[in-house]
Parts: sequence; C-alpha cells; structure tokens
Amino acid sequence: MPDKSTTSETELTPAAAAPETPAVARKIYPIVKYGDPVLEKPAKPVAKFDAELEELAEDMFATMYAAQGIGLAAPQIGKSIRIAVVDVTGGKNAEAKIVLVNPEVTHGEGEKREEEGCLSIPGFRGYVVRPHFVTVRAQNLKGEMFEIRGEDLLARAFCHEIDHLNGVLFLQHLSMLKRDLIKRKIKKLKKQGEW
Ligand SMILES: [Zn+2]
Repeated sequence: MPDKSTTSETELTPAAAAPETPAVARKIYPIVKYGDPVLEKPAKPVAKFDAELEELAEDMFATMYAAQGIGLAAPQIGKSIRIAVVDVTGGKNAEAKIVLVNPEVTHGEGEKREEEGCLSIPGFRGYVVRPHFVTVRAQNLKGEMFEIRGEDLLARAFCHEIDHLNGVLFLQHLSMLKRDLIKRKIKKLKKQGEW
C-alpha cells in the first residue's frame, strides 16, 4: 500500500494556471540581419501545404515572440519562401495570430506616416508612409484563399512583411539621406564585429 496519496496539492492547481499552448518545444531560429542577400531577393511561392509548413509557422511565431516582434517573414530566418506571421498583440491574444502564405496587397487606402523598425535591422528606426487600410489576399496553412483587412499597425505590419517576401526592406522607403546614414552606421558596426 502506498504510504502517501498520489495526488499532491500542487497537482490540484486550477486549469487556468496551465500554459495556454501545449508544451511543444518550438524551434527558435536565429534572425538574419541586414547584409545577408536572402533579405533582398524575392522569395519563392509556397507550393506544399503540409505538416512541415504548419510546424514552420509555429516556429516562426515562437521566434517572433522571443524577439518581441509583431511580424516575421520567412527570409528573416534564412528561408526564401513566401510565408509570414503577424501578431500585433505580441502573443497576448491567441486569436490575433495571422499566418499569410503567398500574400498580396490587393487594395490600399489612405496614408499614415509612423516610425517603423525591423527585427533584421535591430537598433534602427525610421518614418515610413504606409496605407492606413489594406486588404490582403493570402492562403492559409491548408492552402485555402482568404482575404483580410488591416488598419493602422496591422496594415503596416502586413505591408512590412509582404515587402520582405519581395526582398524589400523598410530602409528602401526612407529618404536617401536617412538610408545612407543607417547603412554607414551598420557598416561601422560590422567592422567592429558588432553586427
Ligand atoms: Zn522586417
């Protein structure tokens, strides 16, 4: 006979204290930095909608949250394929997780100028004009087409990530003066081995 009850008090903690997602170990990818050619070439369309793609999307979310980003495109983890993940709540709301496969901006409206940064260009920010509203057409992880509308920060995140899939960085939306200044600073950091 066991001398102790098999159920301890800690095991009776309410379910609310349990983690939101099952304990699957996710891969956290290193984020590719500016200077790597993968960031400046158009990515290839995704053709296979399988379990591997689903795994990749979840790993991309984990990588993005670990880096405290609100969007991440596959080229930023060295994969030149057209998939991006976006969550403007930074992981606070599971329903805010958006996966865009082979996305295109089909409509833009209005203009908004805001400061923007990029996980691949850490430490640098610049003002970029983006549409206030956008409509994006994309495929989900099953290959089904859908349309999604974004406003403000979400519209900006969609545009920024779709730019990545086209090999375009936010630097290209800055004035030549500002862009050259950032490029010079990055060059210096590289020389110092700090990039
Ligand atoms: Zn970026």
